[in-house]
Amino acid sequence: MSEIQRLLRPELRGRQPYGAPQLDVPVRLNTNENSYPLPDNVAAAIEKAVFEVVRGLNRYPDREAGALRADLASYLGHGLGVERVWAANGSNEILQQLLQAFGGPGRTALGFTPAYSMHPLISASTGTAWIDGGRDADFDLSATDAAEQIRAHRPDVVFVCSPNNPTGTALGLDVISSIMDASEGLVVVDEAYAEFAREGTRSALTLLDGHPRLVVSRTMSKAFGFAGARLGYLAADAAVVDAMRLVRLPYHLSALTQAAARAALGQADTLLATVAAIRDQRDRLVSELAALGLRVAPSDANFVLFGGLADSSAVWRSLVDRGVLIRDVGLDGWLRVTAGTPTETGAFLDALREVLKEQA
Ligand code: PMP
Repeated sequence: MSEIQRLLRPELRGRQPYGAPQLDVPVRLNTNENSYPLPDNVAAAIEKAVFEVVRGLNRYPDREAGALRADLASYLGHGLGVERVWAANGSNEILQQLLQAFGGPGRTALGFTPAYSMHPLISASTGTAWIDGGRDADFDLSATDAAEQIRAHRPDVVFVCSPNNPTGTALGLDVISSIMDASEGLVVVDEAYAEFAREGTRSALTLLDGHPRLVVSRTMSKAFGFAGARLGYLAADAAVVDAMRLVRLPYHLSALTQAAARAALGQADTLLATVAAIRDQRDRLVSELAALGLRVAPSDANFVLFGGLADSSAVWRSLVDRGVLIRDVGLDGWLRVTAGTPTETGAFLDALREVLKEQA
């Protein structure tokens, strides 16, 4: 063991940093980004907003990010006010702040895996012990099964990813309610992909009133196509927001980020116009992959998990050879692909057809 490994906290020793392989290929459908660049009028509004704060960068930004949080609250609706919304540099930072406040040494967090791989990693980095909850063979999670797992482990924090990454499927509110009833801890519903959900899918935001232990985490990285700006947020009881103030670094959200995010929210309708196009490509992927005889998980997100592959690593590699990068999420026989533009999605499907024919 090296000197630094010896000094490192034991739970971090030997761990790999999170990171999808980034390869310079023409079609990149591996990180569930929004494939559409910001339209010119939105870009111009953001440039103007950023320009206006540049001269004031000698001063620290609004520590409370009050105006931005008010804008986020009105975007979310559901009667939420600024005191029930918190913002940070990406929803990963939101999740980290939640664990800094509610997890930590001697405490546990449980998630129903396969789910977002950062949930266990952020748990480890905050000294929170991780409990691997499970799903059934179809990656489904019933209300009874979820409640039984919670009662068996009594975690301090429960992560529910809905729509779930990497499977794509959203959970019914009956499952979330059952988890809340069974749990005595904080229930964090990670809704990073909420805007892409199929018609009729209800957000956990509708459950917030009267449930002070419920937190809904969101991001501008996906539907808003704003991943590079780093803006995540949560909605919860005002007491949860107060707890975030105890752990956040002072001035954690730069004046540039706050200005850019507010300008983007001011153009929400234009930015969210890509959601319908992306959903179409998602539904196209679901039907065309099924038509190829593959197993396909129902998707409420901007990506699709497909399986029934004899050698998923070989398929992944052959797609890269054809200039298409998708994600091997470590589930044997399955791969995950982001819904891109019609051209990107078509290029992926064409390449996959070739690869499957070649490997048949
Ligand atoms: N939650 C889920 C389920 C995600 O898939 C991601 C990004 N891949 C995040 C949170 C974090 O996104 P960001 O930090 O960009 O908001």
